[in-house]
Parts: sequence; C-alpha cells; structure tokens
Amino acid sequence: MSSALKADLHLHTDYSFDSVATFEQYCVKAMERGISVLCFTDHIECGKRRNTFDGFPFEARAEQFYKVKQRYKDDLTLLLGFEMSEPHLHPRELQILRSFEPDMIIGSVHYPHEYVAHEGRWSNREYEKLYLQFVYDMVCAGGIDVMGHVDLMKRYHEDFVADDAAVKKCLEKCVKNNIVPEVNVSSLFKGPNRETMPSVEMVKYYCDIGGKYVTVNTDSHSADTVGLGLDEVVSQLPEKIKCCCFVKGRLVELR
Ligand SMILES: [Zn+2]
Ligand SMILES: [Zn+2]
Repeated sequence: MSSALKADLHLHTDYSFDSVATFEQYCVKAMERGISVLCFTDHIECGKRRNTFDGFPFEARAEQFYKVKQRYKDDLTLLLGFEMSEPHLHPRELQILRSFEPDMIIGSVHYPHEYVAHEGRWSNREYEKLYLQFVYDMVCAGGIDVMGHVDLMKRYHEDFVADDAAVKKCLEKCVKNNIVPEVNVSSLFKGPNRETMPSVEMVKYYCDIGGKYVTVNTDSHSADTVGLGLDEVVSQLPEKIKCCCFVKGRLVELR
C-alpha cells in the first residue's frame, strides 16, 4: 500500500470522559506532522455514568467543531464522528445518532462484562472470548461504519492469546455487511503487546477474502500522539488494501 496516507481517524477530545485534548490542539499538532485528515470520535456510552447518550452535549460539540473546522479549512479536512460502545445493544440510540448525520460511527466493544450475568471473575482467556463474541454480534447487527479495535484485549492482557479464528469471523462479517475494520495502532505504544489491532496478518486475511478498505488511526486521547506510527503500519498493509474515511456516512477513498 502506498504511504501517501495522511489521515488519523479515531481521536478523543475533551468531549470524551478520558481526554482533555481540544480540537484545536489536534489541529496544531496534525499540521506540524503533515496529517491532513482528522476524524474526532468521542465516546458515546448508553447506560453508563460517563458520556451517556442522554447527557451528551451534541450541539455544543458540533458548534465548537464547526468553528475550528472553519478556522482550519485551508489546511485540514476535519470530520466529526463518534465511537459508540456496544451499539448493537442500543439500536434506538444508534438510529438517533445516525439521524444527526455524523461523518462516521465507530462501533466498539468496551464493557461486555456489564451485560452478562456472571458469577465472579473471568479468566483472561474467557474474557477475550466474551469480548470477541460481542464484537461479532456487533458487526452482525450492522448500522456502523467502522469496527473498532477488534482485539482490544491485546492492549491489556499481558498473557494475551490471539484468537485468529474469532477475529477472522468478525472480518468476514465486516466484508458481508460493508463495515470497514479499523487498524488501530494505539497498542503499539500502550500495553504489553506491541502489535496493531487487528494484526497486519489479519488485515492480509481480510484482503484475501475480498476486504478492500480500512481506516488507520492512533485512537489518541492526547494531541501528542496524533499521527504517530501510521506511515509505518500503512506501508506493511497489502497493496490491494486502501485507506478510506467517511463523510456523512459515505465511504471516501483516500489517495
Ligand atoms: Zn475504544
Ligand atoms: Zn477510542
């Protein structure tokens, strides 16, 4: 794949509970690093205490975003999206979110354990299995543009064991349901396993089964990391795989 990509499409700002970075800070840093397309994907979480759907300041965020977009219009393409937790369990909220016409909705699994009756704790293997089952159910349900960090547990479990078969099932469903998997590089910098989510090997599989597009991103929670590591990862992806972004939910190929 060509290394002409200059886009970072999964970024958290101070509209996410776990970030204090501003739109503006990302823009300044992106320009320094020659990144020209940014998509802000703040958390939307239903039934949680933070970033709840009902309490989310949709209008204030959009207003602030469009001001910054206007300010940087000559240098940057700025996109506004969301990263929604477990969207398949909240179809009504997902539908409303879509009606706001965001550029892109990433569906991600963050809290599978909160939806499953259980006794005590899981082993890491059991949790990894549960996590991937949720991702699979999510891509089966559809309605999202991008499948977020398919094997997130790689970023947390020191003894993480890759389950290629389960990841492949998710990728197959992405191809069938026109959902684009992201290649999230945050795990190259955070956590015990320095490998992208999913691995380059799994992107090759996705390509073999007819997958055409990925988004590539840092999942940054601070402007300091915007764009870091993307070029190198993109250069390792199969030639046939193209990077894309979404504008109002419509896939746009990046050259
Ligand atoms: Zn996430
Ligand atoms: Zn994220």
